[in-house]
Amino acid sequence: MVKPKKSKESADKGPGTLHVVATPIGNLEDITLRALRILDQVDLIASEDTRHTKKLLSRYDIRTPLLSYYKGKEVERAETILELLDQGDDVALVSDAGTPGISDPGAILVKMARANGFRVVPVPGPSALAAALSISGLTEAAYHFAGFLPAKQNQRKKYLEALVFYPAAIIFYESPHRILKTLADCRKILGDRQALIARELTKIHEEVLHGPLSEVHGVLAARPSIKGEFVVILAGAENEGKPEGKDLPQLLVWYKNQAGLSLSEAVKRIAADLGLNRSEVYKEALKVWEELEPG
Ligand code: SAM
Repeated sequence: MVKPKKSKESADKGPGTLHVVATPIGNLEDITLRALRILDQVDLIASEDTRHTKKLLSRYDIRTPLLSYYKGKEVERAETILELLDQGDDVALVSDAGTPGISDPGAILVKMARANGFRVVPVPGPSALAAALSISGLTEAAYHFAGFLPAKQNQRKKYLEALVFYPAAIIFYESPHRILKTLADCRKILGDRQALIARELTKIHEEVLHGPLSEVHGVLAARPSIKGEFVVILAGAENEGKPEGKDLPQLLVWYKNQAGLSLSEAVKRIAADLGLNRSEVYKEALKVWEELEPG
């Protein structure tokens, strides 16, 4: 590494700078030269998990002191960091992987630092969102990024229901223990739309699955265990999400065949579309549905 270590002499110290530094999402080579220089030169690195950050620092022979900065202690640690900035220390903020502040701690510290007049500087680099998007082949610029969907199923369903007719792609992060349930909810609520699932990006077991939601769900569900971290990208609603048809049978066919919804989900939507009572719609819909079902 190139030294000198400190950018300022203690005698002429003005307020310090907060550097928000992106770090690798797996492959330790994915770090910029500038990030390495900043991590080496600052007085302190605020890190989501110091043990994790030490692995990166030792790879590049960086010996800057670390302070743990994690969810739950964000405000308390931010106050300590503001005092250090005030004394003239430069601080780098890193998370476990990718860009701090994107579904990671950081936003509170950044907000407080800015509110107190300190300079906040981004040191851009990897993010799982950008990595997955870059290999998605999405041609439209717009998308909805949800971070992590709500962990509780009823909240997750509500969140997804609000996106049923959203015409652009939907992107979210997901953990291995929830991926199957989440994909099943997506299939049920959003229909069997095209999906791209990026797992373990930049790591040895990197994998990208794509196809209809039912298919990618099936591939994962068939595995004895599911490991790794996921970014999920779902296609936006077709026909700009507008159901075609004005009466119950037409709407039912549309929701079944175009949106791929189950009977109960279709009934919910039709009741809302036509302003009718759900149980009334259900009775009628059941007859039509049975006719639509093959065999
Ligand atoms: N701040 C990070 C960023 O910029 O990407 C995201 C942090 S968030 C706590 C962690 C989630 O990001 C994981 O649960 C997973 O959904 C996604 N993620 C992180 N690394 C990944 C990777 N190598 N491959 C796929 N997804 C990843």
